[in-house]
Amino acid sequence: MTRLIFLGPPGAGKGTQAKKLAELFEIPHISTGDILRSNVAQQTLLGQKAREYMDKGELVPDQLILDMVGDRLSVDDAKAGWILDGFPRNVAQASFLDELLASIHQVCQHAVNLDVPDGILVERLVQRGLKEGRADDNEQTIRRRLEVYREQTAPVIDYYRDRHLLVTVDGDRSMSEVTADLKKVIQS
Ligand code: AMP
Repeated sequence: MTRLIFLGPPGAGKGTQAKKLAELFEIPHISTGDILRSNVAQQTLLGQKAREYMDKGELVPDQLILDMVGDRLSVDDAKAGWILDGFPRNVAQASFLDELLASIHQVCQHAVNLDVPDGILVERLVQRGLKEGRADDNEQTIRRRLEVYREQTAPVIDYYRDRHLLVTVDGDRSMSEVTADLKKVIQS
């Protein structure tokens, strides 16, 4: 059963790769960033609360995120497997996920760390901002998102390493090379 967590800094290519692999393996791609952006666009209460954090490049508070993930993982399509992209984003979320998965009798297969050098991340994010018009892909917010990643999300890598679930994949290569490696991880 394919149940993967995609870790890695903003701009590492998590979203692109997660989407591609989810299509290939016919399982849902669960991106907390996408769910939040859709809530912002639809001006739901969650979206209204989340927006100020997203615009600043800060993490949205855990209490807004955890129910959202719990609800999404309990949808029927997630029984076939899933790829989580952008969650967990801190150690508290990782330990919540452990408890949630235990309660629904699921185990995560691997946590994949997509590794890309900092200089390349900023370049990629600036390009995406120009192309997709994402509000948080401006230089000031990008810088803050990278700081937040280092301070709060990077420790999640150790969390999964300690649990022998971590796989690191070099994300600084062509999209198809990275996809090929990720396929091997899934099929291992
Ligand atoms: P992403 O699309 O994953 O880069 O997420 C965009 C923004 O959504 C982040 O900068 C955060 O503000 C927010 N966000 C996404 N996922 C989470 C999460 N798991 N916990 C807290 N905030 C999140």
